Amino acid sequence: MKRIAFIGLGNMGGPMAANLVKAGHAVVGFDLSAASLKATADAGVDPAASLAEAVSDAEYVITMLPKGQHVVSVWTELTALVAEGTLLIDCSTVDVDSARQAHGLARAMNCPSIDAPVSGGTTGATAGTLTFMVGGSDEAFASGLPILEAMGRKVVHCGGDGAGQAAKICNNMILGISMIGVSEAFVLAEKLGLSHQSLFDVASTSSGQCWSLTTYCPVPGPVPSSPANADYRPGFAAALMLKDLALAQDAASLAGAQTPLGAHAANLYAAFEAAGHGGEDFSAIIRMLRT
Ligand code: NAD
Repeated sequence: MKRIAFIGLGNMGGPMAANLVKAGHAVVGFDLSAASLKATADAGVDPAASLAEAVSDAEYVITMLPKGQHVVSVWTELTALVAEGTLLIDCSTVDVDSARQAHGLARAMNCPSIDAPVSGGTTGATAGTLTFMVGGSDEAFASGLPILEAMGRKVVHCGGDGAGQAAKICNNMILGISMIGVSEAFVLAEKLGLSHQSLFDVASTSSGQCWSLTTYCPVPGPVPSSPANADYRPGFAAALMLKDLALAQDAASLAGAQTPLGAHAANLYAAFEAAGHGGEDFSAIIRMLRT
């Protein structure tokens, strides 16, 4: 049993923290939202009244926060709060630069650290089947591995500081593009008089098969657990998808990589958010494509 502080108990962090409890760890949680704190307390996470209280006795600190600025700000606060040697793990999706800044803060505290963003959505977070992509030293990776394995099915060490985030933004660029592709296919099928189920039955066993179709189908019916069946409640909010696509575009422009479809997907999600849909699941973009 390890003593773990979990900071950020939202759509993803809540179920991830609950899985650490199920694995037998002592987990103290903190979130600015009282509702999130209460929901995870019901799952056995000990609620803390402040960041300081949450990390006071922790051997591991995990953050699962919206953006790079939140991670850097919380890790800056941690510098005055955690003991040397505490392993700091950030599972949020952030830009590579913020991830490296966070690693720098950890080094200054004499704490090992890893960036360990995830793939698998809220379904994977709840089922404990996430994929973790990890950046950091071999020693920090080895020390974090058993903790990550309690929340996921696959843990990949991608390289040094920030390499996990680099893998994550490349993966999510594929996801944003593929969700739009799958949604366009359903919209076309509707116009051609082909049922959702027929397209699903064919494409899910043909060369159009992908996660956006078989796990996260953007129309209700074929995959009962997908957000389309719950009026597109996230899940993974469109605003967060836009954030990831923007991170990929920033990285591509800095690295000189050509990503024309990634750029187009970012523009479509920007239009979707500007129309007031940023809080809906990202698969709800199919509604915009129908209009
Ligand atoms: P969320 O908005 O549901 O949760 C974030 C939580 O952080 C909120 O509860 C918020 O109150 C809390 N928070 C913000 N600042 C804080 C602070 N200073 N101290 C304590 N708590 C604070 O977001 P989410 O969907 O759980 O996503 C979290 C991260 O995971 C994001 O970086 C996102 O891109 C990434 N991610 C999300 C999904 C998904 O399907 N939702 C999938 C993979 C990765």
